[in-house]
Amino acid sequence: DDPDLDVVTFLASRQHSGVVALVDAATGRRITFPELWRSVAGAAAALASPPLSLRKGDVALILSPNSVHFPVAALAAMSLGAVVTTANPINTPAEIAKQVADARPVLAFTTRDLLPKLPRAVALRVILLETGTRLLPSDAADPRVVATIDEISATPPDPTLRQNRKITQDDQATLLYSSGTTGPSKGVVATHRNLISMVQIIMNRFRLERSDAAETFLCTVPMFHVYGLVAFATGLLGCGATVVVLSKFELPEMLRSINEYGVTYLPLVPPILVAMVAHPKPLPLGKLRKVLSGGAPLGKELIEGFRDKYPQVEILQGYGLTESTAIGASTDSAEESRRYGTAGLLSPNTEAKIVDPDSGDALPVNRTGELWLRGPYVMKGYFKNTEATQSTVTPDGWLKTGDLCYIDEDGYLFVVDRLKELIKYKGYQVPPAELEALLLTHPEITDVAVIPFPDREVGQFPMAYVVRKKGSNLSEREVMEFVAKQVAPYKKVRKVAFVTDIPKNASGKILRKDLIKLATSKL
Ligand code: ATP
Repeated sequence: DDPDLDVVTFLASRQHSGVVALVDAATGRRITFPELWRSVAGAAAALASPPLSLRKGDVALILSPNSVHFPVAALAAMSLGAVVTTANPINTPAEIAKQVADARPVLAFTTRDLLPKLPRAVALRVILLETGTRLLPSDAADPRVVATIDEISATPPDPTLRQNRKITQDDQATLLYSSGTTGPSKGVVATHRNLISMVQIIMNRFRLERSDAAETFLCTVPMFHVYGLVAFATGLLGCGATVVVLSKFELPEMLRSINEYGVTYLPLVPPILVAMVAHPKPLPLGKLRKVLSGGAPLGKELIEGFRDKYPQVEILQGYGLTESTAIGASTDSAEESRRYGTAGLLSPNTEAKIVDPDSGDALPVNRTGELWLRGPYVMKGYFKNTEATQSTVTPDGWLKTGDLCYIDEDGYLFVVDRLKELIKYKGYQVPPAELEALLLTHPEITDVAVIPFPDREVGQFPMAYVVRKKGSNLSEREVMEFVAKQVAPYKKVRKVAFVTDIPKNASGKILRKDLIKLATSKL
């Protein structure tokens, strides 16, 4: 627990000479650890000098799909004590403008394609995350563009920088925005300590080795999200592993990369696992040994389907939030994930309690309430939002997760639903996730989402959007009867609509807000 250890000192101590640190899956470009370290140090020197003059505490935005340049930009900015904020590249210019207005970055790393999405009104200097050391004539059209990342990475490193900018583990490292699934997206401030403890926890829980070229990661989960950020940080800073980078998820490209680069560890979200299990024949997975599922619940059928089809690959699960810098609980072996529906055991150095959301009392084992977590990875707070911070993190460091959970007598965590997504039927509360899990056990249903449907008399009732198996003639009435036979009357699904797919976000969460809008637009 060295107080002077920040994420970049961490990288410096992992210079595995000769080992490939990053691979661009699309072009095959390889960057070794010494080259990565040299690029990060060079880029930092350029960022610290005029005209960029990035200072400690300044915010730097990364607006980019996954690329080998992303970690270089993030680590260079963090090494100066700057705070890295990220934006989802599929966001609209208006959404990005809102985030920029909140985070107030002084610098942005982005691609030529995404440049038009950056608000013009804001004074920003831009570094293009493009390969090559020369700007194109077309770049002159936007006077904010200063250089490419390759260009600034070629700057001679400045060894005095690190002495002049003392960075400690309690300094801010990232400002990631929560997905905004349940309400407005909020800026989550994490420190170097938060990130380092998470890297150590993931290596420990998933038994990832720290030795030259022992592991090869494939990073297809988005780096702008805490999941992808922690994934590449664990590979590069923790394991000294090779991180193969895919700019977006496509099954054939993912399979090609797994086999071509000998991928051993693959973090994914449940919809990708669904695609792998749904494939008629087992897909060739080469040296793959571990698949991590996170971001959204993983159903029993999916675990079993995956295990039947890919017995050589261990399926792990992680539960967490942006506010907990990724995982607070996880399953680390096939045995654990066989417990129906568990999100696993708590991470090391973690305390948890289940709290009655109404009375605030701590509840005993097997009773459902809100999960509170305490550990070295709990965020510092929400950015410039004292009110939200105070209602989410207690003065003695407990993070109120907003998830309705219980912990069994052996310490296994079960996530029942999100407090904010409970359907309020008369005086009762109905967890949509429970109904979704039940509906997914129907042999003719391939995917489903349950939403609250507003009703003047009862408040809300559960409505199900259902994706039927190809060729199925399942009727709305049959779906309702299937549920009604198995649940208490207040939980009955009272309306059904068939759709061809369920809208989900980048971390695999159902976009209930979109479905509620769709359902109520027809009222
Ligand atoms: P917002 O708070 O803005 O609505 P968000 O909470 O969707 O955004 P994230 O931080 O990406 O943004 O999501 C965290 C949530 O994801 C957790 O609180 C939990 O509800 C859900 N989650 C993550 N992993 C799992 C898992 N393994 N099982 C069940 N739920 C999970």
